Amino acid sequence: GPLVEKFESELEKIVGAPCVSVTSGTAALHCAYAAIGLKPGDEIITPPITFIATQATAAIFGAKIVFVDIQENTGNIDPLLVEAAITPNTKAIVAVDYAGQPADLDELRVIADKHNLILIEDAAHSLGSTYKGRSVGSIADLTTFSFFPTKNMTTAEGGAVSSINPDLLSKARKFSRQGLVRNPEEFKIKNQGAWHQEVHEFGVNYRLPDVLCALGISQLSRLSSFKGKRQALFAHYMNQLSNIPNLTLPQHNSHNDVMWHLFPIRVPSTHRREIFDELRNRGILVQVNYLPAYRHPVFSSLGFQEGDYPLSDNYFAGEISLPIYNDLEVNQQDYIIQSVLDIFESKFSSKL
Ligand SMILES: *Cc1c(COP(=O)(O)O)cnc(C)c1O
Repeated sequence: GPLVEKFESELEKIVGAPCVSVTSGTAALHCAYAAIGLKPGDEIITPPITFIATQATAAIFGAKIVFVDIQENTGNIDPLLVEAAITPNTKAIVAVDYAGQPADLDELRVIADKHNLILIEDAAHSLGSTYKGRSVGSIADLTTFSFFPTKNMTTAEGGAVSSINPDLLSKARKFSRQGLVRNPEEFKIKNQGAWHQEVHEFGVNYRLPDVLCALGISQLSRLSSFKGKRQALFAHYMNQLSNIPNLTLPQHNSHNDVMWHLFPIRVPSTHRREIFDELRNRGILVQVNYLPAYRHPVFSSLGFQEGDYPLSDNYFAGEISLPIYNDLEVNQQDYIIQSVLDIFESKFSSKL
């Protein structure tokens, strides 16, 4: 329908590159990997602190998943560790903008260019963020977004791929539209009637419906107010929770203007379970993001085991995501903050 194109062009205005809409962030990743022609034997380099869709959609092409550990303070892939993981089979570096904060894209770009690799950004958390003044979506070769309800904006279910490279975007689009070729100039079967369409490479159907694009257009028109709200919530947490012994706040790199998807705090791993349960018991829907991807049982048959990526393990062991979303009221946030303060005082009072 007509709103699909309209949604894609509104999204382009925000992310700074042409887009194709799809049915989820997982679908977007699948299309990005299809666009680069990922095949068995290829390797991709990714961080463990992410939702497993980052890896799953590459693994189902038969690619080998190579993990590189994170920076302790941001949760993002550490560019200093990437080069050692590159082999002749490496095809792409896939960064994840954890919590909404862009990864170190300039550093990753230098490495990608030096080794002739593709740079993909899983921006499921970071729609609306900028990196050194540039919009997320206009920096990597391919960027993927999710519009799941918990993300920075929603189409109920949905996602998108953006690319600064028209050829890669066209491949992602074709894969998401059953591989159908409709442009007569590209036809291999000549002299057909106006009904003709043909397939050169297999694809799937990930079309985002018109009705969901209507919701997306409405959401995008409110994105900057959503961003302001999330930034205000972030700033209030940072002010109220600073200088508490045993509590580590998220690091915010000043060159990033972040639309925060998560507010990840870290607590002593010895107390994480108790603190998490007490917050849940007070009605606060905290979450843990994420079990390091390589520790999912699906990876154990591939030879991965706990301890392989100690910085990710350590990050996970103490992480708790406090609620941050557009409709969170100030008095609700103050209740969350007071609960954290109370719990910390009761557990670590000798140190306060
Ligand atoms: C949510 C998410 C995805 C998947 O998006 P869906 O729309 O839920 O399929 C992929 N990567 C990351 C980092 C995510 O947080």
